[in-house]
Amino acid sequence: MRTPRLLLAGRTLQAGPCEFDGDAVHHLARVLRRRPGDAVILCDGAGSAFEGVIEMLDGKRCRVLLERPCDAAESPLQLRLGLALLRGERMDYALQKTCELGVSHIDLLITERVEVRLDGKRLTNRMQHFEGVLAHALQQSGRTRLPRLAAPQRLADWLAGLQASVSQQERRLILDPEGEALQRGGPADGFILASGPEGGFEDGEVTLLAAAGFERVRLGPRVLRAETAPVAALSVLQWLYGDFAG
Ligand code: SAM
Repeated sequence: MRTPRLLLAGRTLQAGPCEFDGDAVHHLARVLRRRPGDAVILCDGAGSAFEGVIEMLDGKRCRVLLERPCDAAESPLQLRLGLALLRGERMDYALQKTCELGVSHIDLLITERVEVRLDGKRLTNRMQHFEGVLAHALQQSGRTRLPRLAAPQRLADWLAGLQASVSQQERRLILDPEGEALQRGGPADGFILASGPEGGFEDGEVTLLAAAGFERVRLGPRVLRAETAPVAALSVLQWLYGDFAG
């Protein structure tokens, strides 16, 4: 029976007793049907995780005796993804799978052909939902560091922010069916990807991205769905530069 992992975002974890309540208790008791004496792993979402044993678990509260830090399944690669907003399940799929694949930042993008319009209360609700998708993917995958999720921004604003915020070492790739095959070699400690909406990037957007140092990279001759492309790209990068190759 796999040891369940629970995210207690923002909690400081250390050896000794750790008490908590809320949804995590319900999940542990009612869904996973764990009991006192069972093993559990708690993680803080910021890179720390501890193994422990349930000492007390009732309908409302739980106390775990944390014993030792445990390994984190975090990738050595810094993987930042500029992801055009997608509709419904497709967005959830892209968030879930890229989290499992080790993405470190997800910046939601509004491009010309994005069909989703989010603002006000709807934006708040969707962002909370997206954070929940990432939290579940983190717990399921054994990661300990939640990807940083940035609210939707226009492509030009994202690029302006990138110029200021990230070191120039990261290699920048546009996922583009009209691009070239990925050139191997070069700096391999970090990548910034730009992945388009279902309708693709407009020519002017590709020009803007290329002017900001993004290489147009093609992932084979088939047109991938907008939610498939970032998953394929991250898998290739983890194999070539990350922790897939052992
Ligand atoms: N007609 C659109 C076009 O030509 O860009 C198709 C868009 S595709 C359904 C959605 C997004 O997935 C694209 O903007 C691109 O970022 C990515 N994508 C799809 N197929 C790809 C491929 N073979 N190589 C690289 N990226 C791809």
